[in-house]
Amino acid sequence: MRILVTGGAGFIGSHLCERLLAEGHDVLCLDNFFTGRRENVYHLMDSKRFEVVRHDVIEPILLEVDQIYNLACPASPVHYQYNPVKTVKTNVLGTINMLGLAKRVRARILQASTSEVYGDPEVHPQTEDYWGHVNCVGPRSCYDEGKRLAETLMMDYHRQNGVDTRIIRIFNTYGPRMLENDGRVVSNFIVQALRGEELTLYGTGAQTRSFCYVDDLVEGMMRLMNVGEGAHPGVDVHDPVNVGNPGEFTMRELAEEVGRAAGVEVRLRQCPLPRDDPRQRRPDITRARKLLGWEPAVALREGLGRTVQYFAERIKAK
Ligand code: NAD
Ligand code: UDP
Repeated sequence: MRILVTGGAGFIGSHLCERLLAEGHDVLCLDNFFTGRRENVYHLMDSKRFEVVRHDVIEPILLEVDQIYNLACPASPVHYQYNPVKTVKTNVLGTINMLGLAKRVRARILQASTSEVYGDPEVHPQTEDYWGHVNCVGPRSCYDEGKRLAETLMMDYHRQNGVDTRIIRIFNTYGPRMLENDGRVVSNFIVQALRGEELTLYGTGAQTRSFCYVDDLVEGMMRLMNVGEGAHPGVDVHDPVNVGNPGEFTMRELAEEVGRAAGVEVRLRQCPLPRDDPRQRRPDITRARKLLGWEPAVALREGLGRTVQYFAERIKAK
């Protein structure tokens, strides 16, 4: 197949492009390089089946493709809050453009949504039928509400125009090729631990997250894209599906785990908790298990080990 990956030069997108090429597809990687890097996909450029297009999804584009993975959007709070209006445009205009393209060329489209659609959740763990607890006027809302509207658009293009849609709600994902200065907790803690610096713990560190290794996520994403109608009685393939690792850790526990993986005794520096920071997060993955036969295979300790190795090599090479 000929497959378009928007945000393909980013962290998750680059791993997805790699997997799709390995499975024999033609891959078109589209990116505006806001948080993505050419070097994330350098190793793929020798392939005749791989192309990179510099383009911003807020502008329309016409391409002949069979499938579209719509990942274009900065994912780190630091980056999505840098230009919040642009984040809304990327999620709304970008998704409309990609859905318009899917409609025109009859491609199947998968939207990279997020656990942030649940906001600061009052239901724990989060099931897909929970409608969420989101502040629509806070600093995170450009991303949260943008992603929620992107889901609305997916459902409406499906119901109104018969577009073949899939929605994956991604929970915190980590691994090699995250940016060193990305601002997300796993990359921050690892880089700080390797440099012998104090780890910046926001708030008390009692807030929780569930961390999924990128290879597991990409596997779940590809399964959802390729699952057919009626694959499981009682589950509509167009409804959102949580994909994440149900292992739940406080940020204090994560700091300890990073210390263990990096082989250092960690020292913590307490910093202010960002506004509207969700207190708890853990996916209920019953739907993914039923519909996709998917569950994560890489435990946090193992995934952190691989990620520490990646960052250690980068830091050494500088
Ligand atoms: P990332 O920032 O590494 O990748 C995003 C990519 O999109 C980058 O390459 C960036 O340059 C590109 N991009 C941004 N705006 C664009 C635009 N207007 N036009 C074209 N390209 C644009 O982030 P990631 O972690 O790889 O996340 C990928 C997707 O998965 C995002 O949609 C994100 O919201 C979603 N997601 C990620 C996580 C996670 O924990 N990593 C969790 C939930 C959802
Ligand atoms: N966090 C932290 N130190 C950091 C970066 C983040 O303690 O240096 C906390 C942050 O407050 C949040 C959690 O780690 O509670 C996850 O943050 P991240 O930005 O990675 O993702 P998100 O909040 O979007 O889940």
